[in-house]
Amino acid sequence: MGKYTCHLSKEAIAPCTFNRPGIENCPMRIAPEILEKAKKIYEEVDEIKEITKNASIVEATGYIKWPRLKDTIEFAKLQGYKKLGIAFCVGLMNETKKVVEILERYDFDVTSICCKTGGLLKTEVGVPKEYEIKSKTGYMIGSVTCNPVAQALLLNDAGTEMNIICGLCVGHDITFTKYSEAPVTTLIAKDRMTQHAPSSILFTHYGNSFFSEDLQGRKTKK
Ligand code: SF4
Repeated sequence: MGKYTCHLSKEAIAPCTFNRPGIENCPMRIAPEILEKAKKIYEEVDEIKEITKNASIVEATGYIKWPRLKDTIEFAKLQGYKKLGIAFCVGLMNETKKVVEILERYDFDVTSICCKTGGLLKTEVGVPKEYEIKSKTGYMIGSVTCNPVAQALLLNDAGTEMNIICGLCVGHDITFTKYSEAPVTTLIAKDRMTQHAPSSILFTHYGNSFFSEDLQGRKTKK
């Protein structure tokens, strides 16, 4: 079990929502100095203060009515960003075209970079041979690696003020975020099985049956 376990909150609505501490290992009980440190960052780092404030304004303005793309647009407008970057997966080329078309109609200057830019071979970045060309599930995936470092460096070169992830693979999104100079938000979280809706499997029969098979033989943790 992790040091903090907010998900085990006994109440339906977490007490911190009402500025009260909850369970025994609640960070509000055992780590007040870290929470104080976080508070200072909001006070002292203007960029973080502004981003946090504007995210909350967007939340309150479009709650339940706006799709995430509209949230992204309104957030970027509040931040005063004009130049946006898109780091996209080659498998989401059509979705990215549509996203760019919409962003441009809102007058953003959009630069996009495909994940396969550079044509680097998977073997050049240490991918074992048996994990290139064809996936274990039978699909042609080719020998060229995704190149999230180049995606970030190219968007840095273009001077984008905020970068948007459209379907980068798990892991490649981490690398991209690490090397991007501009702040990064995810519009589409890649999930090939669920049409990019990762939470959709959590409370469904299909999700349950997948994980009960995948977890066979493992003990249930208390
Ligand atoms: S009350 Fe404390 S333990 Fe519960 S969710 Fe909030 S921060 Fe986490």
